[in-house]
Formats: sequence, C-alpha cells, structure tokens
Amino acid sequence: MEKRELVILGAGPAGMTAAIYGRRAGLDVLVLERGLPGGQITITDEVENWPGVQHTTGQALAESFRKHAEKFHPEFREATVEKVELRDGRKILVTEKGEIDAEAVLVATGANFKKLGCPGEAEYTGRGVSYCAVCDGAFFEDEVVAVIGGGNTAVEEACYLTQFASKVYVVHRRDSFRADRVPVEQAMANPKIVPVWDSVVESIEGGDMVERLMLRNVKTQEVSPLPVAGVFVFVGTDPNSRFVADLVETSKGGWIRTNPRMETSVEGIFAAGDVRDTYLRQVVTAAGDGATAAMAAYAYIAEQVHLQSVLLEPERVNALFTSSIDPAHVALVQQVEAWSAESGIPVSVVDGYRNGRMMEKLRILEMPTLVKLQKGVEQGRRAVTNLEEVRAFLQ
Ligand SMILES: Cc1cc2nc3c(=O)[nH]c(=O)nc-3n(C[C@H](O)[C@H](O)[C@H](O)COP(=O)(O)OP(=O)(O)OC[C@H]3O[C@@H](n4cnc5c(N)ncnc54)[C@H](O)[C@@H]3O)c2cc1C
Repeated sequence: MEKRELVILGAGPAGMTAAIYGRRAGLDVLVLERGLPGGQITITDEVENWPGVQHTTGQALAESFRKHAEKFHPEFREATVEKVELRDGRKILVTEKGEIDAEAVLVATGANFKKLGCPGEAEYTGRGVSYCAVCDGAFFEDEVVAVIGGGNTAVEEACYLTQFASKVYVVHRRDSFRADRVPVEQAMANPKIVPVWDSVVESIEGGDMVERLMLRNVKTQEVSPLPVAGVFVFVGTDPNSRFVADLVETSKGGWIRTNPRMETSVEGIFAAGDVRDTYLRQVVTAAGDGATAAMAAYAYIAEQVHLQSVLLEPERVNALFTSSIDPAHVALVQQVEAWSAESGIPVSVVDGYRNGRMMEKLRILEMPTLVKLQKGVEQGRRAVTNLEEVRAFLQ
C-alpha cells in the first residue's frame, strides 16, 4: 500500500495553506482533492477581506494559493476520500483510486450548501434552482428570482443578483434578517430587493423550468404561489465530514471538534478550516487553521520518528511509561532519572499521556509501567509505583 507522511484532504484555502507549511517544514505532502483545487471561495467574485488585497475574485485568490503551494512541490491528486479507517493504529485513507497509509491526516474538506429538502428542489436543480449566484445569476437577466435564507450569504447574494434580475424576493422564515448590519442596510436600500417575511418554501413548481414557489406563511399557515423564474438557496452549510464522522469527535451537525493545535480526538488526525466546529468560517481563518494544523502534524510526525528511534530500534531499552499530568508520576520520574544516572542503568522515560499511539502499539493499559525491549521486541514488563519496584525489576 502507498505510504505517505502528511496527507491533506481538500485543496481549499485550509488545505493549500497546510501544503505550503507542511512542505516548508520538509514533510512529504500529498493533497487529495475531489474536484478542482480552490474550494468554496472560487464561486464568489467579490473578496474584500483577505488582508493585503483590497479587492479580488474568489477564482483569482484560489489560483494564487494554488500557484504558491505548487512552488513547494506538494503532490496534488484528484481523488475523493470515501473513508478514513484505523487499522492496527495505522491511518488508512480509502479513495475510489485505492488506499493510502498516512502517518498524519489533515481533514480540510470544508462545507457544502444545505438543501431545502422540499418537493421540486432536486428536480429543478440546474433548471432554475441554484446554490451559486455568481455561477448562475447571469442566466436571469430581467427575470424575477427568489433568494431563500436570511443570513449574510443570502443577503449579499441577493444584492449581487440585482445586477441581472428585475426583482429579487428574499424569502425568510423570520421577520428580520440574521445577516450583519452593513449587508442588510445595502439590501434594504436596494429598490429591486423585496423581503418576504415569515415564509418557508413548501414546494418548487413549474414546467420544463421553475415557474413558481409555493410559500407557507409560518404565522397564518396560509399557502400562496410566488411566480419566479429562478430560486437561489442560501440556507446554511453542512460540513464535508461524513467519511470521518464515526471516527473523530464531532459536534451537532457533524462539525469536527479540535483543540487549538487542530488535533482531533484521534491522534495523528487533524482538522482545519470550515469543516471544524469553529466560530468564524472565512478564508483567513481557514488559512490560519491550515498553518497551525500543518505545524502540529509536523511535530506529531517528528515525535513518532523520535520514539521509533529511541524505543524500537536500539539493541536494548528500558522504557518507563508515565503520565506527565500526574504529579506522583512526575515525582517517580525524577527519582528514576537520578537513580539511572547513578547506577548507569539506562531508562528511557516516555510520556504516555502524549504518546497514546506508542502505548497502543505496545498495548500498555496502565501507568507507570516499565517495559524491557530488545530491538522493539518486548522482553518483559511490570507495573511500578515506586523506585524500589523499578530497581527490583531492572537490577
Ligand atoms: C458564496 C460564498 C462567498 C464567500 N465569500 C467569502 C469572502 O468574501 N471572504 C471570505 O473570507 N470567505 C468567504 N467565503 C467563505 C470561504 O469560501 C470559506 O470559509 C473557505 O473557502 C473555507 O476553506 P476550507 O479550505 O476550509 O474549505 P473549502 O473551501 O470548502 O475547501 C474544501 C475542499 O475540499 C474538497 N473536498 C470535500 N470533500 C472531499 C473528499 N471527500 N475528498 C476529497 N476532497 C474533498 C472540496 O472539493 C473543496 O475543494 C465565501 C463562501 C461562499 C460559499
């Protein structure tokens, strides 16, 4: 099976930044991307909040990320990750093109648009139903369209659509927008934008193409038709995390939980960007996450290599596994180190709290435990609580 050091899943801003940092740190980096590199930002033509660039398009920004990453020669490969599995402590990526054994995995697969789930939505997708104003807005020159949603994306995209459409209804289930003040003020000042409050879509209807929405007023329960030629759905996003959802810890909705080092609940699996359970989902935060995750993955890989050379390769090793967060263990380590220096009997101390993978590999279930190894093969072990027991076992 193909073996790689750092495998990054997804070539959006998080994945591409991680590729830059990973390669600059000297790692072997493979980036798996199911489509074209760039991620979600490629579908917007207005980016005004990437520091240092006052205005650009999503395509141009994504292209500059890609070119920058390519300078450091990571391998980009078109492949869809279907599953991440743990086999004997090894992380195996299952793709439609085969399996890859990764030392560290970075999940940077972003998020996807949520669907309304109403009758007609799937049937009319591409025939009037769209999830991307930039991609499809121009098809609705002088037509009446509806935007569904009330957040930033819905309100901003409604403004964008007024360049083409004669009228843009914004259908929202509440009686005010959730979006930030500035986009809401812009939308409300635009004569082409007409809010439709307290309403949800019951169905999307038409002939060959969309002709109307059936809306239900959530206060009166009245159902009425709204004639439109296009429907732009912006009702939130879902994380692309299904392929790891039964492996790593996620919050409600499937967003991957990480600590500040972007480590997930599984050692050696990291997550960055929009797929994470995080406060802000933007290019700048995704890029920051990607950098942190790559450096944390580098530290993790270096540690694995170090442990391999310290524990498993030498002729004889006495390894004491303790937990660095247990004061009694810390005290024992100090006594053992002093005795080791005095007696000349070497003892390698391993922090089992931070090296769960090595604990798993050697099947150590309790700490402190002393293990005698010869070229990585166990010669004996003993659970110890004090220096006397350590001495008795090693002398
Ligand atoms: C319409 C729109 C406008 C936006 N405007 C702005 C803006 O102006 N400024 C801003 O900062 N942010 C903006 N954003 C948000 C920004 O695009 C995201 O926060 C950012 O792209 C997140 O980056 P990411 O790398 O985490 O994920 P993504 O950009 O989502 O990239 C994830 C990548 O992973 C790939 N992938 C997913 N699943 C798999 C799999 N199983 N196997 C292989 N590959 C996979 C996807 O194809 C994708 O390329 C906008 C988003 C949208 C939708």
